[in-house]
Amino acid sequence: MPQKSITDLVIVRNFLEVIGGKETIDLIKICERKRKAFTDEEISKKMEKKVTEVRAILNKLHFRGIATYQKSRNQKTGWYNYTWEINKPRIANLIIEKQKEYLNKLDEKKNLEEDYNFFDCKDCNERLPFEIAAEYNFICPSCGGKMNTISDPQTQKEIQKKINKIENELVILTEIKE
Ligand SMILES: [Zn+2]
Repeated sequence: MPQKSITDLVIVRNFLEVIGGKETIDLIKICERKRKAFTDEEISKKMEKKVTEVRAILNKLHFRGIATYQKSRNQKTGWYNYTWEINKPRIANLIIEKQKEYLNKLDEKKNLEEDYNFFDCKDCNERLPFEIAAEYNFICPSCGGKMNTISDPQTQKEIQKKINKIENELVILTEIKE
């Protein structure tokens, strides 16, 4: 069985792609296999990419606290060597923070759907909560059309589905974090 990778999660792949481009996913996979510090030259060979391209990705990851490096001077050449490490829990953490915010928004939306009994105009797109529609005697204030209630179990179901999916992902991400 191949070892499980953090990049198996779609949400992780999307996140990494946004941060550093598609190749970031390969870079993280390679680093996971190495399980120790590595130089940008090593990664560039494995990825068959120019060192400068690898460094560009690493710098983007460093900016987000995902990649950290140690600098050491090569005694012979006097040049600096950089050894990098990937902080996987940090990746999980960043996504968890983001998804928790999204989850809050979904919860609010779900509550709103549940709290109000909405009325829709059959002629235009006006949508009003029960209390307001009742004030207008269920005649659309925009166009005079008749307003009917829609109980929208489909919307509620879809929101709940999204919430469940994110909650499942959060469980997995929390395991990576620890
Ligand atoms: Zn209307």
